[in-house]
Amino acid sequence: MKKNLETLCIHGGWRPTKGQPQQLPIIQSTTFKYDTSEQMARLFDLEEEGYFYTRLANPTNDAVAAKINALEGGVGCMLTSSGQAANFYAVFNICQAGDHFVTSSNIYGGTYNLFGVTMKKLGIDSTFIDPDWDDDRIRAAFRPNTKCFFGETISNPGGNVFDIERFARLAHEAGVPLIVDNTFATPINCRPFEWGADIVTHSTTKYMDGHATQVGGAIVDSGNFDWDKYADKFPGLTTPDESYHGLTYTKAFGKQAYTTKLVAQLMRDLGSIPSPQNSFLLNLGLETLHLRMQRHCENAQRVAEWLEKNPKVAWVNYCGLPSSKYYALAQKYMPKGSCGVIAFGLKGTREDAIRFMDRLDFVSIATHVADARTCVLHPASHTHRQLSDEQLREAGVAPDLIRLSVGIENVDDIITDLEQAMA
Ligand code: PLP
Repeated sequence: MKKNLETLCIHGGWRPTKGQPQQLPIIQSTTFKYDTSEQMARLFDLEEEGYFYTRLANPTNDAVAAKINALEGGVGCMLTSSGQAANFYAVFNICQAGDHFVTSSNIYGGTYNLFGVTMKKLGIDSTFIDPDWDDDRIRAAFRPNTKCFFGETISNPGGNVFDIERFARLAHEAGVPLIVDNTFATPINCRPFEWGADIVTHSTTKYMDGHATQVGGAIVDSGNFDWDKYADKFPGLTTPDESYHGLTYTKAFGKQAYTTKLVAQLMRDLGSIPSPQNSFLLNLGLETLHLRMQRHCENAQRVAEWLEKNPKVAWVNYCGLPSSKYYALAQKYMPKGSCGVIAFGLKGTREDAIRFMDRLDFVSIATHVADARTCVLHPASHTHRQLSDEQLREAGVAPDLIRLSVGIENVDDIITDLEQAMA
């Protein structure tokens, strides 16, 4: 039976049968037993499916991956131990030394650093584009060795909305897939595959978990990108992998090619798996994702409207406000609501912003976002402090930007706390 998102949040992934636990079991075991060596050999020869080592597959992790896959409408999903690992693997699965990719500059600071510094050390070059540039200027960033285009549905921390349909068109014109980090919108509010994105990533640390209990990531493949059509660009998927029985992923696995390579090659060799215990916690969060997202968006809308009218506030960026440059895009891609994260600046000095944050009561200063608890952060002095002023501006982060992640507490209490701290 076809199920709606709310039902998938509860019933996706783990489907207990007679006498099995109602709640997803935590299979906290590194390994799995077989009775004969022949049985085990058949697994290694890929003649039979089965679990043998948790780095490659684990029943708890697989059930949660299946739920996220169903929520995004993909054909395959792999969980990782963090959102950073998810974004690295998503790109590294199709890029090798000598390759290049194009990325929006409006992305999370950690991803900016991963792409702009660390991946360059591996010989993978990238070009940052401003999504506000016109099509021709963006097209000029693509090179013959470009392998993908990357952006965030709603950027962290700026809150800019990525025009998925437009960037999917530009990526496909260049014969490469569009990868979208859908962490802030979540599949409850936006399903990037419906707008042409090919691969979706998540930091499941954020709304999907929602209770600050685990750090995790996910990569979901739509199965829509035709790797064989551009076989020369993607030899890792379209030519035999000698380290994996000489199989050619696209021939042997069809629409599962990208995900199978992720697991069988990258996870096997690099090994950033989540612990089954963490996947269990993530699954608990996913069970209420649809309810929490609705409340986050309602609360954030009220708080953003209040901030906008407040004489102590210099500016507010929340794509749910009609005054936002991204309002029309938000209405198109996220008509039910976007997320709970608001960016704003106070009138006054940088010290005033810091004093405001220090005087908050239950609203906490935390290196975290997209959580049940309301929290604030000053990216220029916290998460993004490794970036220069120029890089900050490129990443859409004003030096006075305060990132307010509106939680699911009573909204009047949230506003009262902000008001007393501003006073
Ligand atoms: N992507 C986005 C949009 C994020 O906000 C973050 C972290 O804040 C990440 C990726 C990295 O995720 P993690 O902290 O789980 O490694």
